[in-house]
Amino acid sequence: MSLLRFNAVEEAAKRKPVTAHKENRSVGDYFAEAVFDRKTMQKYLSNEVYKKLSQHIDNGQPIDRDIADSVAAGMRMWASNQGVTHYTHWFQPLTDGTAEKHDAFATPDGNGGMIEELSGKLLTQQEPDASSFPNGGLRNTFEARGYSAWDPSSPAFIVDDTLCIPTVFIAYTGEALDYKTPLLRSLEALEKASTRVARFFYPEVNRCTTFLGWEQEYFLVDEALFVARPDLRLTGRTLMGHESAKNQQLDDHYFGSIPERVQEFMKDLEIECYRLGIPLKTRHNEVAPNQFELAPIYEECNLANDHNVLLMSTMKRVASHHHFRILLHEKPFDGVNGSGKHCNWSIGTDTGVNLFSPGKNSTDNLRFICFMAVTLMAVYKNDALLKASIASATNAHRLGGHEAPPSIISTFLGTEVSAILNKFMNSKPKDAIQFDAKKGIHLGVGQIPELLLDNTDRNRTSPFAFTGNRFEFRAVGSSANCASAMLALCTALAYQMNDFADHIDGRVKKGESDEEALYHVIREYLQDSEPIHFDGNGYSDEWRIEAERRGLNIDTNVPLLYDSYTTEQSIKIFEATGVLTQAELEARNEVKWEIYTKKVQIESRVLGDLSLNHIVPVATKYQTMLLDNVAKLKDVFPEDEYEKLSEGPKNLISKMSYHLSNVHRMVYEMTEARKIANQIEDLRGRALAYQETVSPYLDQIRYHIDHLELIVDDNMWPLPKYRELLFVQ
Ligand code: ADP
Ligand code: MG
Repeated sequence: MSLLRFNAVEEAAKRKPVTAHKENRSVGDYFAEAVFDRKTMQKYLSNEVYKKLSQHIDNGQPIDRDIADSVAAGMRMWASNQGVTHYTHWFQPLTDGTAEKHDAFATPDGNGGMIEELSGKLLTQQEPDASSFPNGGLRNTFEARGYSAWDPSSPAFIVDDTLCIPTVFIAYTGEALDYKTPLLRSLEALEKASTRVARFFYPEVNRCTTFLGWEQEYFLVDEALFVARPDLRLTGRTLMGHESAKNQQLDDHYFGSIPERVQEFMKDLEIECYRLGIPLKTRHNEVAPNQFELAPIYEECNLANDHNVLLMSTMKRVASHHHFRILLHEKPFDGVNGSGKHCNWSIGTDTGVNLFSPGKNSTDNLRFICFMAVTLMAVYKNDALLKASIASATNAHRLGGHEAPPSIISTFLGTEVSAILNKFMNSKPKDAIQFDAKKGIHLGVGQIPELLLDNTDRNRTSPFAFTGNRFEFRAVGSSANCASAMLALCTALAYQMNDFADHIDGRVKKGESDEEALYHVIREYLQDSEPIHFDGNGYSDEWRIEAERRGLNIDTNVPLLYDSYTTEQSIKIFEATGVLTQAELEARNEVKWEIYTKKVQIESRVLGDLSLNHIVPVATKYQTMLLDNVAKLKDVFPEDEYEKLSEGPKNLISKMSYHLSNVHRMVYEMTEARKIANQIEDLRGRALAYQETVSPYLDQIRYHIDHLELIVDDNMWPLPKYRELLFVQ
């Protein structure tokens, strides 16, 4: 066996669980201890400063320079007390992950010594040397620079010796260069718009909040095996590897117990997350071997998103203490389920109503139907945009396969809710809603059970499913920043809610009663959005045909999907809600195309190198051994016996020749295709060329290599195989 593979397999096999850190305190005692949350603020800020900061966080009232100075001083003091020496503006550029540049608190005191300080100016705004972040041409390196600005709605936190201050990242001319800026804008738009609609039912509502509860799927791989796989190291997925004889056929992983090594890792991860204020709630195995999931309790969307981004980096850190590597890639292993991030999403009022929850009375029920109708309409009108928001080079490996997510956006409602909406749609106004001055609204569609949670049939094949009191956007990729999907969804909803409210206002102005107007517009919305509603099997071929007939978007070409960001409809909703301008949308697409190209380019190069340097030499050596064998058989045996005996090896030799020559040819052709694509200046054109002319080779070359893997002597095969990678001891 190749030495590297041999050592790696040995090392992984001998690995013992690393005992998790003992945390003797109860969770309540250390939860959020690394976070500058309100409790801590109260300790480190004066009453007045605390009050002003709270008003800023809760109601967006501006804070002046003095307050910022005081907050910075309090924050620094708290951090220093925990041994922190550095701080960083923590932001989410359009590439994966986060960006940080650490600066020391230490500042010369003017007398040859040093003091530790953090000024309000440094807290609120900085100019990271960010010319290397993708900006789609918005920020020319020599002209406008970008700056990061404090987001007080997400509390600062400590990682190791560094105080991390959540920030947005924008160009000096105001354009968003990150995920957080448009997410915040979309949340604000949605909060305003949903408050407007909620007030038709509850005039006392002043404010709505959007909630997100993500579920994060991931794979774990032993560190030694990971290191022995250049493809995993460089691209995050295996570019080759024949299926293991056993993988997930028996479905035994999902219900099995969590391996001890993994359990210890999870315990440490949970402690770290709790310290950082991430309210983790569940952990379990997933469908595929080595695949796991964790989920927190849902939180306000911006905070939840920061927590997910922070979780991803924390996972990487903690995993290495346990000699694991985390694979967040959407499809690290062929033939085995991929990973996603389910985004559970809902809106609540400041009076404690979940707008997607049926309630106790007819007002609640009509409000429920109303918010369902608006959501269906928003998804219907923006299905291509929503798909574009989850599309990436890595998620493309899941899109359209017979596993989540299907490549068509549709909404699943379940039998009960579907029946309620149908009944409403087919009712007469008088039957549907009656208004009684004493009793309030009476809903003719019958009582809706207060708790739908247990009644909803779960449909795992739907990318956007109603799950009892929330929607679950399941198509999001496991490595993605949820903000991409959330900001598209919130923008679509915000626009639709305003449109809905405008329609109601218009009808009321013309003399209709509120109830009549609500009845008519809800019904119209339900009827118009019917094509997006699909409760059947999202993976079936019939659905694809049916969806196309219904006019839904069925594309899977990722670079082409990005065009959905700049359609007339998308520009309209993004501009009307103030989330992104056309120029920003166009610039962000340039970044997306560039990232797409780079990812495929790297995969293609790695596969080319591995083919020529690892696979071909080994396969050729083995083939030569077989040829020797045939020649020697001929020396030893008489002709007729030789013919019989050499049949097997000869057969293998010709099979190998077939696969080897294909690998040779295709690697050459793929390289040529890259060269041609690289000549294309236009980023969209280049991404399309990579998609159409380079990426098909990745699968085709792999096909031949995987067949060679089945033939070549196991002792010679250089890379850890699936059966070694996929089963944690
Ligand atoms: P599943 O059966 O889909 O695995 P879980 O009970 O694990 O469901 O919950 C998934 C996620 O949904 C959790 O993060 C949970 O906090 C979140 N969630 C529950 N209720 C809501 C809600 N009203 N709004 C947003 N997220 C929610
Ligand atoms: Mg779920």
